[in-house]
Amino acid sequence: MRTIDDFTRPLEYLSPLDDPLGKIVRDWAENYVIPHRRKFDEDWKEHALIEPAFKKLMGELGMQRVLFPEDLGGWGLGRSNYVGTASYRLFEEVARADSGMAVAFGVVYWPMVMIAMEPHVNRELCEEFAPIFCNTTEPRFAANAMTEPQGGADIENMEIVGGSTIQTTAVLDGDEWVINGHKLWPTNSGGVCDLFGVVCTTNPGSRDPNDFAFIFVPADTPGVTQGPPYQKAGMAADKNGDIWFENVRVPKSYRAHGPGLDLMYFKEVISFGNMGSISFVGGVMLNVFERLYEFVSSETYKGQPLKEHDAVAGVLADFVRDTEIVRMCGYQYARMLDRPDLYGPRWSDEMVAKGRAIKYWACDQGMADVGKAMNLMSSYGADRDWDIEKHWRDLKIVQLWMGGKQLCQAEVARWFFDLETV
Ligand SMILES: Cc1cc2nc3c(=O)[nH]c(=O)nc-3n(C[C@H](O)[C@H](O)[C@H](O)COP(=O)(O)OP(=O)(O)OC[C@H]3O[C@@H](n4cnc5c(N)ncnc54)[C@H](O)[C@@H]3O)c2cc1C
Repeated sequence: MRTIDDFTRPLEYLSPLDDPLGKIVRDWAENYVIPHRRKFDEDWKEHALIEPAFKKLMGELGMQRVLFPEDLGGWGLGRSNYVGTASYRLFEEVARADSGMAVAFGVVYWPMVMIAMEPHVNRELCEEFAPIFCNTTEPRFAANAMTEPQGGADIENMEIVGGSTIQTTAVLDGDEWVINGHKLWPTNSGGVCDLFGVVCTTNPGSRDPNDFAFIFVPADTPGVTQGPPYQKAGMAADKNGDIWFENVRVPKSYRAHGPGLDLMYFKEVISFGNMGSISFVGGVMLNVFERLYEFVSSETYKGQPLKEHDAVAGVLADFVRDTEIVRMCGYQYARMLDRPDLYGPRWSDEMVAKGRAIKYWACDQGMADVGKAMNLMSSYGADRDWDIEKHWRDLKIVQLWMGGKQLCQAEVARWFFDLETV
């Protein structure tokens, strides 16, 4: 019998850590997530079932520490040359069980890309924030607060909009930044966040890259208010909500790097967001393969298992083809992030565009394929007992975030066709 482990992995370039780490997360998913995930939708607010699974993965198994340097209690992944491929494997395994958990877990790393990655480690901030994640067995959450009420896509569309629509302001007052603004939707907001990375402007309306600031704000700083989580179509394990910053004061040193560099490395954050999103699509498709295998082998039509009919076999083949391609493209992009010596800096517009291209392709393909799996399963496709409709609802959300498909298309066309205004 074939399993998800028959899908191809690029063995020639995986780190020795890949399999042991993958196995740990696979065991965790089998024991702590898959048996309970059908009840996660109702647990969106309380996280009574979801929280223990996070505690095991992030606090007890220590996965929330991986990016920080070893001497600060981390695993040093930020200084390795396999941070992309190892993260891809981790995220894919978590997403196979629940892509909402995968994004919540992945975003614990996300703002840390600014400060814990070679060649731009900010040692002082790593020392400041590593204890939050490394000195505990409780799950701790970080959030990357970009999106604002007037539009998220414009904030990520730095090349054209140049940060001119960012309304969250950072004003230097002596040795402190004073931050005011309103963010919404960040993964791991909705009341659970411990540490925010906040996209700000030091000069509202400006398009000057030097005015883009990425500033860390511990969630318990006076003046920070987190609203309750939103109720969404899926991804109950990821809490999203409003955050208000009202005269919030943090030390001057909490700015990630300073004028120009904050924006430069922020593009690396976007590259990692694309890589993570692709891995979530891949993880979902693997689990849909497992459930579909079971269904088309046991359900019969004209006295034969469903899979033994030509038309059905064609759809199954297409599903496998696309799952293989998502896996290969995703790992290839992760590998490109691991080898800036070959592919250039992770923060280049080229890397952002190539990540966006694969991200929106994978989302479109995944949505179409999971839809076809539901067609084959007929009413059972919509039945919560089979988990497919859950993955379908979750995958739609992966398609919508990070500026949605349109921003992806704009950035891809812009880089490859030298567009100047789009
Ligand atoms: C589960 C989830 C997790 C999220 N996590 C985070 C997070 O961690 N951090 C965070 O900051 N935000 C997060 N978001 C918010 C998300 O990234 C934004 O919703 C998204 O970027 C779109 O922004 P918007 O909703 O304000 O839509 P808008 O930016 O207002 O866009 C509206 C529509 O206009 C289109 N559009 C925008 N610009 C262009 C253009 N140049 N050309 C053509 N069409 C365009 C968009 O594609 C979209 O269809 C999350 C959202 C969800 C649902």
